[in-house]
Amino acid sequence: MSYAFTFDLTKLSQLIFKDIAKISEKDRLNEKLANMARNLVDKFNVDKHTGLPINDSITIIEDLISVNMKNSLQKDQFLQTKKRALFLPHCCRKYMDSRCRATFDTATSSYTCNHCSSDCLVHQSTVLSAQRNYDIYVLPGASCVRKIFQKHHYEGIVGVACTDELKLASTILEHHKIPAQGIPLIKNGCSETRFNIETLDQTLSCNEKNSSDQRLIIAKPSHLPQDVPI
Ligand code: SF4
Repeated sequence: MSYAFTFDLTKLSQLIFKDIAKISEKDRLNEKLANMARNLVDKFNVDKHTGLPINDSITIIEDLISVNMKNSLQKDQFLQTKKRALFLPHCCRKYMDSRCRATFDTATSSYTCNHCSSDCLVHQSTVLSAQRNYDIYVLPGASCVRKIFQKHHYEGIVGVACTDELKLASTILEHHKIPAQGIPLIKNGCSETRFNIETLDQTLSCNEKNSSDQRLIIAKPSHLPQDVPI
């Protein structure tokens, strides 16, 4: 960051630099993160609502804070990008069996939704991503993104996944120097996973002018089937 002012910190006590160094140590940051997570678990009774042990509840909240911190750090860079893609986990399809009419593309290891159900998160996300000019990939795992990057050059990525998969994806994206915004699942597992579609909508449209107005009208793009309501 460049400053629009000059400054001189030489008259400050040297202790402040020691404190900054202390705060910046990885362990101290981890300790602070753990304290913040513990406070949130207490405040919102996370363990009681989820039925999870307190330590697992704290781990989940720590991971969610980490995802948000990473998003904040990469947001400015992400907003500069033009060619973008959205990655979704295949476990958030409404059906995981033959009732799902999605087709699988072996070249990119991803599903293409064929819009059998208006209440399927993949269908809804496909509509939103088409409106916002994102390519969409519905993937069995984060490692599949390598295949996509061999075929396409994306400048920015929005990814939905459990926090473990987000961490793996983030390592791959950092290797390719692609800024990203992660959206963690709010219900994980092997099927019927969930994420917040409002959060996805806001993330996809975060650098559009009047994006809040646009969010109110979700019109179906003309190339999508007209017999499936959104
Ligand atoms: S709406 Fe699409 S992804 Fe969802 S179950 Fe139907 S075909 Fe599969």
